[in-house]
Amino acid sequence: MSETTLPTPEQLQQQLRAFLNAGFPQREESPGETGDSPAAPAFDFHLTPKEIKRHLDRFVIRQDDAKKALAIAVCDHYNHARHAASLPEEEATRLEYAKQNVILIGPTGVGKTYLIRHVAELVGVPFVKADATKFSETGYVGADVDDLIRELVHRADGNLQLAQFGMVYIDEIDKIATASAGGGRDVSGRGVQTTLLKLMEETEVPVRSPNDIQAQLQAAMEFQRRGKPVRESINTRHILFIVSGAFEKLTPHIVRRLKQTALGFGARVPERSDDASSLLRQAETRDFVEFGMEPEFMGRLPIRVVCDPLTEDDLFEIMHTSEGSIIRQYERAFRAYGIEVHFEEDALRAIARAAAPEQTGARALLTICERALRDFKFELPDSGIRSFSITAALIENPDKVLDALLREGHLERSKARKEIICEFATRFSSQHGVRFTFDDTAVTKILEKADADGRDVREFCEVAFRDYQFGLALIRRNSGQTDFVISAEAVENPDSVLSRWVIASYRKDEADGSSIQ
Ligand code: ADP
Repeated sequence: MSETTLPTPEQLQQQLRAFLNAGFPQREESPGETGDSPAAPAFDFHLTPKEIKRHLDRFVIRQDDAKKALAIAVCDHYNHARHAASLPEEEATRLEYAKQNVILIGPTGVGKTYLIRHVAELVGVPFVKADATKFSETGYVGADVDDLIRELVHRADGNLQLAQFGMVYIDEIDKIATASAGGGRDVSGRGVQTTLLKLMEETEVPVRSPNDIQAQLQAAMEFQRRGKPVRESINTRHILFIVSGAFEKLTPHIVRRLKQTALGFGARVPERSDDASSLLRQAETRDFVEFGMEPEFMGRLPIRVVCDPLTEDDLFEIMHTSEGSIIRQYERAFRAYGIEVHFEEDALRAIARAAAPEQTGARALLTICERALRDFKFELPDSGIRSFSITAALIENPDKVLDALLREGHLERSKARKEIICEFATRFSSQHGVRFTFDDTAVTKILEKADADGRDVREFCEVAFRDYQFGLALIRRNSGQTDFVISAEAVENPDSVLSRWVIASYRKDEADGSSIQ
């Protein structure tokens, strides 16, 4: 049996250090990360609600209530956060402040995420989005919700200070209503609500996940290096939480309550179900509680905003006016192949008309455009087409328009290639002092052979007729001939035709001065 020498504890430590340094190089520490250094101001905030709304107007069509409420909430939140950050720690914690967390209510694809993303970008804070349903499904609730906060650090490029002012957006919040109240999925919904509640209030989330082996190893290394444990955590006090959901099944609760109180107070109870937005605007905490949301949870969401469904006209406006219009995306996609595309106004109307019944808000615009333009993206890049217009006819009947365009493109392409062949002949003539031309059979043959070789026509001509400048110069000296017409035969066998001509030029006298072809 061979003897194995066990490493000493020092050697083990050294090996571990080398392994960690190779695998997980140390980050540069940003100020405030260790808790040792004073916190530098992470960001500055000096916007007004109107400035925020004006910014959102450039991108988001409609949703004026939401833009306004969000703009005010964001200003309140970050003005407070800035003020608190300027105070000594104990003074800041004594400040009375009810957090302006927001609940956005509205169907899918109407711009909820889009609003938040643009606000976060404008304010200059990291932004994280997740679906509430994700948390209940894992069964390991707490860990996941904390990961959301840790993700803010990642989005802030490791800047812990900035991450503590980030925005967390949780969608599908209506799906974690408790089942007992008939609105939601299962009893774990209550658990998720309670966990989220803690985050929304104020809690410390460790920067390193207890489930992340790499992070734990790194923490162990730092402990060893510094001789004291490094407890890095993110405080959620200044993180702005925005939750959202469609809450379709909330409306019966609102109607029931309104009907009960209507007699005495004359409240308006819409009869039509398509008036869901105006009903949702009248939602009260007790409706949400009946639906299955925890009262404490709703209590942490003082800003309630309803986003409206988008009409056909809104969808048109989104494409026509929004700076983030998907039209720009298509223009860029075709421009990458050197193709200019122009969307006609009637096409935008046709896209909006087809998208509206899909009931997926502005997302349907992409669905319709993809359906109509997919084959164009596939066929046009090597078709020779340099520009085209997107019309209503194209949206309604893309195959027919594509066929016509390709036919036209084919013609245009061969016209362009014929011009290149002519140019080659003209250049050759002027460079070598002869009249060098291709007859029609030669042009057809060049097109055919260049295609077969997968070469462009100019390159094909340069290779096929590379010896002609010397051969033709010789012929001119021998016979004085300056006119040369190239036929299909010469394209097929350029060298043997040239040799034949050269030999013939030596027999000029015999050929009685006739030109050689
Ligand atoms: P949701 O309401 O489900 O969060 P999103 O905000 O993610 O929907 O919308 C999807 C996409 O549709 C956005 O990225 C944006 O391009 C477009 N969009 C949706 N609503 C609007 C709107 N009101 N104005 C402009 N674009 C919008």
